[in-house]
Amino acid sequence: MRKPIIFGEILDIGEGHWFKDRKEMMLSSFHRNWGAGIDGNAKEGVAAIVLSGGYEDDEDLGDEIIYTGAGGNDPNTRKQIKDQTWDKGNAGLRLSMDQGLPVRVIRGYSHKSEFSPATGYTYAGLYSVVDSWEENGKSGFKICRFRLEYCGKNKERNLPETLELRYSKREKQRKEGTILRIIRDTKIVRDIKKLYNYECQVCRHTINTRSGRYAEGAHVKPLGNPHDGDDSIDNIICLCPNHHVMFDKGSFSINDNLELIGILEGKLFFHKQHYLNKSNLEYHRKSHGYN
Ligand SMILES: [Zn+2]
Repeated sequence: MRKPIIFGEILDIGEGHWFKDRKEMMLSSFHRNWGAGIDGNAKEGVAAIVLSGGYEDDEDLGDEIIYTGAGGNDPNTRKQIKDQTWDKGNAGLRLSMDQGLPVRVIRGYSHKSEFSPATGYTYAGLYSVVDSWEENGKSGFKICRFRLEYCGKNKERNLPETLELRYSKREKQRKEGTILRIIRDTKIVRDIKKLYNYECQVCRHTINTRSGRYAEGAHVKPLGNPHDGDDSIDNIICLCPNHHVMFDKGSFSINDNLELIGILEGKLFFHKQHYLNKSNLEYHRKSHGYN
């Protein structure tokens, strides 16, 4: 019978732990799959991934990893021969993101990065899945993509400055709500929210708090690596927290006529002083599988 999935740290296997081979990882359920990169499924989430150089689009920056999901490649040549789909392990990584489950990241000797071991496999630590989207890979086929950020206990590794640097070009105030959510309220975001009197552009509701009305500024094309959206008026909409989460996760998107598509219907409410860059809307639609 298959061993149960285990999330988080496993006793006596700390960061930097070296495994001779994949079999060694299976004994402790550290990673239960012999051949696959992803240990997990759509129902339970993903507990561990192995970076083994199978996908040309992967990016490894150490504490931040852009990971390509599974599927669509030829088992012999490992070349991408068809589109990846949002099921199995790819759906599991999304579930891990939505439920805040930590993912053990393991680097293999065949993974091309300065952090990879020369032989065998090393445990890189726990990571959070903080973003998911789809795009066309170098092969031309659709790939499922994820951004993972280190969330383990080694504080030395995860200095806030390294996160701050990525956005340091622009004026901003950074507040961390949870590990998964970073709310950046820049002046431009505050201006947009004021323009709408803190009413959501989808449902027209506002949230009254003890300190006043509350809404969130949503970036259509996300800030930060690898999207690099702008913090500008033509890339920000004012949303309630529910619609903000739904928008960021692609439950709905917006077409060029500002109509809602996906699981919502209707039209985005718009102020006459506000406009959006259509290429940002297109980026959002594409990265969530619309058009
Ligand atoms: Zn709303």
